[in-house]
Amino acid sequence: PLILTSIICGVSGLGASGNMGSLGGKTFVYYTVSSLLAILTGLVLVNLLQPGVGVDLGLEKEPENLASSIERFGSSPWQALIRLVTDMVPTNPIASMADGNMLQVIVFALLFGVFITRIPDDLRQPLETFFQGAFAVMMRITHFVLAFAPLGIFALVARTVAVTGLEVFSGLGLYFVTVLLGLLFHAGVALPIVLSVVGRMRPVEHAQAMSPALLTAFSTSSSSATLPLTMDSLERRGGVSNRVTSFVAPLGATVNMDGTALYECVAAVFIAQAYGVELSYVQQFLVVVTALLASIGAAGIPMAGLVMISVILTAVGLPLEGVGLILAVDRVLDMCRTTVNVWSDSCGAALVARFEGEAPHASR
Ligand code: ASP
Repeated sequence: PLILTSIICGVSGLGASGNMGSLGGKTFVYYTVSSLLAILTGLVLVNLLQPGVGVDLGLEKEPENLASSIERFGSSPWQALIRLVTDMVPTNPIASMADGNMLQVIVFALLFGVFITRIPDDLRQPLETFFQGAFAVMMRITHFVLAFAPLGIFALVARTVAVTGLEVFSGLGLYFVTVLLGLLFHAGVALPIVLSVVGRMRPVEHAQAMSPALLTAFSTSSSSATLPLTMDSLERRGGVSNRVTSFVAPLGATVNMDGTALYECVAAVFIAQAYGVELSYVQQFLVVVTALLASIGAAGIPMAGLVMISVILTAVGLPLEGVGLILAVDRVLDMCRTTVNVWSDSCGAALVARFEGEAPHASR
């Protein structure tokens, strides 16, 4: 319900501003390209540093569903993509939700959100209000459940340490560093280059304008909770018009998550390495595509990204227990990736504004 309502609200909000056309196109291009850039950065780093190789995390070896996933997706990226696309389209959306098939839920929610904007106003409004209400309730429930997370993490970590000893953490150390390096590179090098070259803007100045939002993202681990500040910083400190801000920022807070996408990719490959599984090209390709979708599906609240790793693990056929291992260090990584998520949204807004003929304060 959280994913469904979060995506429907995010996407249907677009139509309300009557901006679907040109703004929408530019925004989607930016979201896709920046997220893919982030994922590729993660993929390169995790393959170079190999943080999971030789790590003993007390997992049983050789997951059985791996063979069936290879069989299902075939051996060429092309076959895998076709398979993934056909798998993504739900024949029965209610069944997808009942089975927890996240990819199908994401696709259905995206379509539902897009087409809500195409129906007459009198029908659209109650639906939007309904989904916004349901989304607000789901956020509350999630925050309530998350209040117990420290207890759960305590128990899980204590159990893992009791079984395997403290080496677990040395194992997680390199994983932690890999994610951090990736995030740093993406936020500190890749996005600034895009801002500077494509948008002819001064990245440092833009970052200064966005600093209240970035600090809030870091301390709350929630893009959605940061959204009001993101919009305020963009408009008042960054000089981006309300028209662009009110379109790009809210959608970005739920849909565009570069930090999460990068993290999903590193975490999934790390888990595969820890299981001693060598991922084929096709599987790595599946990781890239599903990491993109998982980041779209992740809601802008703490730890949402952790849950979405199951999407990738299922696609490449790895056991879901893998998620348990990385829980121990998730809190800090969540703070960092959320900051990158918000930073990327703000860069997107500035770039789109630039292409709409505006001159944000950081323009050259
Ligand atoms: N906490 C992140 C955000 O709100 C999502 C995630 O868990 O990756 O942007």
